[in-house]
Amino acid sequence: MPMVVGEVNDQAFIECLIGQATTITTALMSFIAPRFAPPERILMGPGPSDVPRRVLNALAAPTLGHLDPAYLAIMDEVRDYMRQVFRTKNELTMAVPGTGSAGMEATVVNLVEPGDEVIICVNGVFGGRMKDVAERSGAQVHTVEAPWGQTIAPAAIADALAAHPGVKVVGIVHAETSTGVLQPLEEISKLVHDAGALLLVDAVTSLGGVPFDLDALRIDACYSGTQKCLSCPPGLSPVSFSEAAVERIMSRKTKVQSWYLDMSMLKSYWGQERVYHHTAPINMTYALREALAMVLEEGLEARWARHQVNYLALRAGLEALGMRYIPENSLPSLNAIYVPEGVDEAAVRRRLLHEFDIEIGAGLGPFKGKAWRIGLMGASSTPRHVILVLAALESILGLSGGTTAAGYGFTVSSGGTGALSYNVGCNGAAGPLRALGRAPLLGTVVCGTGTA
Ligand code: PLP
Repeated sequence: MPMVVGEVNDQAFIECLIGQATTITTALMSFIAPRFAPPERILMGPGPSDVPRRVLNALAAPTLGHLDPAYLAIMDEVRDYMRQVFRTKNELTMAVPGTGSAGMEATVVNLVEPGDEVIICVNGVFGGRMKDVAERSGAQVHTVEAPWGQTIAPAAIADALAAHPGVKVVGIVHAETSTGVLQPLEEISKLVHDAGALLLVDAVTSLGGVPFDLDALRIDACYSGTQKCLSCPPGLSPVSFSEAAVERIMSRKTKVQSWYLDMSMLKSYWGQERVYHHTAPINMTYALREALAMVLEEGLEARWARHQVNYLALRAGLEALGMRYIPENSLPSLNAIYVPEGVDEAAVRRRLLHEFDIEIGAGLGPFKGKAWRIGLMGASSTPRHVILVLAALESILGLSGGTTAAGYGFTVSSGGTGALSYNVGCNGAAGPLRALGRAPLLGTVVCGTGTA
């Protein structure tokens, strides 16, 4: 009997242990999240662009306090690097927390007081957004418009300034990401300053990828984003204000409509006073520090030239495939093209994403369903990206390449081994495709006289 009792007790003990183990396992399991593994994409849309490992590593550096002297020294460095990338001596240069739209709000709401007359140029989504922000801050907004895909004509701005001599600010987008238009600014800047107004510029898709010199262009307020040609994750917006703009801000009669983006207060945190304003996004500041350092190490001119040559190569390839560009004056960082007749644009983007891991953008506004937007920004502007997207598009669309009027042509073929060979022909020795040299991943780029 004692045996039996013992057995019963052992049995009960084992069952009790199993019960407890199950309870513990269940409790533990309820805290185990699924494995976190976002896919690694090739980012060739309208932003974000690919982020280099060095920038991602910076995000993982130890978080400091926002008033720690070590962090303040990093802020100083970031401000110095931003000044170099903007090409400005502006004292009030900083990174506002938030994405490019926060920069837009920060520049507009600080320069505009209720009732002020402003001109906003609209030829795409982001000019339209700037107009909305200006209206929300109580401005009396006059618009100068151009059809989507076209630049704003300086003469139209001259006419608007003449019709509204009280205008205090003129806002314009340098790189209209919704249409791929690059807006020349020199002539417009002169007109605006001759009229005694301030010039506000959106450089979200141009800074770090397109020739841009804030001081030479006499821009009074400018904002950008981190996730485009700077190749940093989204989350900060570099902004810069000229002396005249700071004077305007400091002599306002009314409080800035936004507490969070009030430059007169933010200035004291980024300036020598170091007055607490908000808890800075510390690790994003590290990432921006590294992204800007990479821009400066490459050199602005070299970086602009890299964006230009990759754009020319992509353009030659797309045109050889029979695609047409939307804007007359295209950005090198954003290629807006018409979807070929009869092609389901969303299905192609889905296949690019799921079969090739490539993200490109859809058309917006009047171009919805009719356009693709292919970004070549920052770390996503390389021969590898150009060749990958051309090869993938050719494969999905079942196209066979061709030759453009300019003499550029290419074919992409699979050798049965899974490797793709990419052959480019261009008439003339100095074609942009020749400048690409060899394609590192997909095989040989052949450049010579004649067609492919
Ligand atoms: N301005 C332009 C020209 C842009 O391309 C974008 C975003 O794509 C923005 C403003 C707004 O930036 P975000 O989406 O980072 O807020």
